[in-house]
Amino acid sequence: MAASGQTGRLLVCATPIGNLADVTLRVLDELREADVCLAEDTRVTKRLFARYGIDTPLERFDEATASAKTPRVLERIAAGETVALVSDAGTPGISDPGSRLVAACIDAELPVDVLPGPSAVITALVASGLPTHAFFFGGFFPRKQGDRVRLLASLRDLDATLVFFESPRRLASALAAIAEQMPGRRGAVARELTKVHAEVVRGTVEELAAAFASREVKGEVVVLVGPPTGATQAVSDEDLAFEVEQMMRGGSSRSDAIKRVAQIRGVPKSRVYDAAHRAKEARKEAER
Ligand code: SAM
Repeated sequence: MAASGQTGRLLVCATPIGNLADVTLRVLDELREADVCLAEDTRVTKRLFARYGIDTPLERFDEATASAKTPRVLERIAAGETVALVSDAGTPGISDPGSRLVAACIDAELPVDVLPGPSAVITALVASGLPTHAFFFGGFFPRKQGDRVRLLASLRDLDATLVFFESPRRLASALAAIAEQMPGRRGAVARELTKVHAEVVRGTVEELAAAFASREVKGEVVVLVGPPTGATQAVSDEDLAFEVEQMMRGGSSRSDAIKRVAQIRGVPKSRVYDAAHRAKEARKEAER
């Protein structure tokens, strides 16, 4: 509850992307305690609240209302209220108006706490089986063909897995554009993640384009495209040695660290071993 002289907080709360059990205990506790919860679609959030017996007042805060409501939200936080923010699915601030509210709070020097949890981006990336050493999240895939071609051309040499949100209606044409611009790449379509009809289809981008060309698709979709073949070989020996060292600092044994870096980077284990060995010898030499 608001208390005089006390500054409130914005609580950015990650909520499930499908399965209502995917929510943290901390998020549930904080949602219960908040003075108000801003929600992209109050009907969606009501289902979560009903499941966990939360009766915090809900207010709509979506693309159409965010700008007009932001000044009042800032006033409420400054007056001491705890304002929770949730989106329809996953982590608020990723492809929704949440990021602007966070920025406005930071500008106004009001506290922002982010409570981590589900995200369609990370869930799809890991489920795809594509390399995760680096990824580029492109938000919603462009609708216009010219914008698609320009974007894909600018990303062609990037040594990273590309992750895009896409509507089921445009999936076939998005995949056709990707197959044309990035032939031969591996890719994945992750659909309805964590839900009853969850599905991850993996293959070359041509195979995916063919598989979805005439298929009626429903639900929520993430499209992923792997890095260019051979790009992961471009990683330098210094980077490989550094990554081994970081993993060892994190508690991994030397042989585990070498094995994992080789897997993540898609390079032979012997190369990672040699790079780590040379770096170790060079350090010893420098210390003499
Ligand atoms: N803020 C969310 C997050 O952290 O994941 C993303 C919200 S964004 C407005 C909505 C898009 O996320 C959908 O169009 C879809 O591309 C993706 N998405 C959300 N839930 C999903 C699910 N269960 N399976 C696959 N994609 C999902």
